[in-house]
Amino acid sequence: MTLHTGRHFLQIPGPTTVPDRVLRAIDMPVLDHRGPEFAVLGFEVLAGIQRIFRTKQPVVIYPSSGTGAWEAAIVNTLSPGDKVLMAETGQFATLWLGMAEKFKLDVDVLPTDWRRGAPLDLIEERLKADREHKIKAVMIVHNETSTSCVTYPLEVRKILDRAKHPALLMVDTISGLGALEYEHDAWGIDVSIAGSQKGMMLPPGLGFNALSEKALAASKANTSTRYYWDWHAMIANNKQGSFPFTPATNLLYGLKAAVAMMEEEGLENVWARHERHGAATRAAVKAWGLDLVCQDPHAYSPALTAVMVPDGHDADAFRKVVLDNFDMSLGAGLNKIKGKAFRIGHLGHLNDLSLMGAIAGIEMSLDLAKLPHRAGGVAAAMEVLKGRDVAAMPKAAVA
Ligand SMILES: *Cc1c(COP(=O)(O)O)cnc(C)c1O
Repeated sequence: MTLHTGRHFLQIPGPTTVPDRVLRAIDMPVLDHRGPEFAVLGFEVLAGIQRIFRTKQPVVIYPSSGTGAWEAAIVNTLSPGDKVLMAETGQFATLWLGMAEKFKLDVDVLPTDWRRGAPLDLIEERLKADREHKIKAVMIVHNETSTSCVTYPLEVRKILDRAKHPALLMVDTISGLGALEYEHDAWGIDVSIAGSQKGMMLPPGLGFNALSEKALAASKANTSTRYYWDWHAMIANNKQGSFPFTPATNLLYGLKAAVAMMEEEGLENVWARHERHGAATRAAVKAWGLDLVCQDPHAYSPALTAVMVPDGHDADAFRKVVLDNFDMSLGAGLNKIKGKAFRIGHLGHLNDLSLMGAIAGIEMSLDLAKLPHRAGGVAAAMEVLKGRDVAAMPKAAVA
């Protein structure tokens, strides 16, 4: 192994770099999770994560990865045989629909070419045709981390409303929350699913479900078996600031610090920062003359950018050049685009100069790996970043 100095550049789209302030918050003695001190922390983080989801309704926090939070959404609300509508927008959508099939749900899969968001026209067609309301849930991935294409939950909500369809709207925003605009209540989401290690700037280990009245009613009516994931045991305990089983106590200290950082910046400013960084990164890719995986400008992700390498070149060999020479991790192409694409994560704890470091490392590596490209990506990204008017920049939400 080559010895590297300075900080590793973790530019994968999750897990992401954890701020020192969050690491310091986690570095605390483990406390009694049934004691009075814990309840104070419990109430604080439960209220804090509600504000991040923009909801006044319950949010359940699991000691789990995002996949656990997917399973929780399914087992609480759905039973074997229930019909659900899902779009195969990329690798994460594929994994989630595979899970739904394992739970014996009757999954109507809308295919895509993995280069755009969910096919809204087909969703509308299916919902309008379903006069008997057999479809129990529409399940979409907000920020498809394998392709860097966004499906906007509000657009799906509007389709459900136009069709007057009562299906639950479930949204995987595992790599969206804390990076992309998100409004659980205002957008009428029934179950929002997220995790700690992406936009939320925490280590892996927390899974979230934000709920709605309708989702809670569906879970009460649902008689199929669940235990660890049961929302009601969680919500009953959360009313006392506690959890039915041992929570990830130290990660909750981290969550409190991460929420504080996001609120000091202001959530709108967090979203705007991600938009700028996405625009700068795409300007670099365009200058290099490389193709984006995402083919629909409306769906470009502010959280990450997936880039195709030219035919006949291996994206994984390229990522190795980046890692060996510059100590930077980039995301791999997954499944269908393995070896054909790499992914630049620009979500979570990031500023303009860290992003420029990442883009410079990629441009130098494109040279070293002899990948056909044009120079000028760094300059193009700098133009976007310095084009901001500092006087007009959003001010910190908390002085
Ligand atoms: C990371 C990710 C997942 C999986 O989460 P884990 O924490 O790895 O279980 C699911 N969906 C999306 C969109 C993701 O980005």
